[in-house]
Amino acid sequence: MPTRINKGLEDSSTKNKIFSIKIVVPLLIAAFLLFYNFNQKKELSEYKETQALFGSYVTIHCLYDEREDILGVVEEGWRRLKEIQISMNALSVGGYVARINKSGYDGVQVSDDVYRLLKRSLEFSDLTRGAFDITVFPLVELWKNAARSRQFPDETAVTNVKKKVGYQNLKLKNDNIVSFKVSGMKIDLGAIAKGYAVDEVVKIFTKNKIKNFYIDAGGDIYCGGKYKKKKKWTVGVQDPRNKTKIIDVLRIEDAAVTTSGNYERFISLNGKKYSHIIDPVTGYPQDGVISSTVIAPTAEKADALSTALSVMGGKKGIKLINSLSHVEAMIIEDKGGKLKKYRSKGYKKLKK
Ligand code: ADP
Ligand code: MG
Repeated sequence: MPTRINKGLEDSSTKNKIFSIKIVVPLLIAAFLLFYNFNQKKELSEYKETQALFGSYVTIHCLYDEREDILGVVEEGWRRLKEIQISMNALSVGGYVARINKSGYDGVQVSDDVYRLLKRSLEFSDLTRGAFDITVFPLVELWKNAARSRQFPDETAVTNVKKKVGYQNLKLKNDNIVSFKVSGMKIDLGAIAKGYAVDEVVKIFTKNKIKNFYIDAGGDIYCGGKYKKKKKWTVGVQDPRNKTKIIDVLRIEDAAVTTSGNYERFISLNGKKYSHIIDPVTGYPQDGVISSTVIAPTAEKADALSTALSVMGGKKGIKLINSLSHVEAMIIEDKGGKLKKYRSKGYKKLKK
């Protein structure tokens, strides 16, 4: 009896198993297909466009659910970039920076956002002990003219122009009035404006709930959210000597990466390449650092600090970065033809 009962029980359980497999397997397949289709749809919608802006190229790359209407938002982003390009370019007549540079002692009234950016620029000068200085423009012009006329500037010329440089002499007064304390002073936001512009687009995207995107304004990069399949965006740090080679691959999420280097923009004099980044203290182009990469929560911070690190050099630069939270960096120096890399404490964790 017990055997039969057992047998009977066995039979019915096997039947149940077959029955349940018959139902469960198709159900699983259906669920998988549904999930697969859903994911496929999510991955399919991609927006990518490149435009010539800021004397370079800007790329916006967004991943979005196809039910979202992102084109209007992206258009708003491009509009904002163009607006900033005019307002912050020292050479664009009618823009705020050009007006400040013409104003002299009396000063000129600027918009709230320009005023705030100037204030933050002065804070970066304090933080970097003058390595970052937006009043460096007279020296930038001196070196650009020297390259144009192929004449190395003599020491007196550098000393004289240097008198017009100094962030302490840029005055930010009440009612958004900006003025200079020394005649002939000029500002240049070239080392921070692209970063600021990228952050402005990030703000527009965040307000409109676009989470997964990538913006590259000629080396000033911001990676929002994730790339496909929940992977982080990857950013390759180029070998300053060989653009086709990548030194490090970084995994970035909701952060900015900027590289300043003299391999793309430089001054050529007497057959030698000089950096387009000037040391405001010596008055001469910075020498030694061939690339500096900064990872920071905002593109503005990454932009300003990467320029400053080129002036500060590997040792001092990394010391500063290690004293700041949520900021990492790699500085590459040319030591008699050999590359020396300096990395901040937390930099390794970002490497793939
Ligand atoms: P890039 O434009 O190649 O990304 P940067 O962000 O480093 O490079 O900005 C370099 C520009 O900033 C220069 O072309 C010059 O106009 C200006 N600049 C040069 N030296 C300094 C400096 N020490 N501080 C602030 N701005 C600088
Ligand atoms: Mg910069």
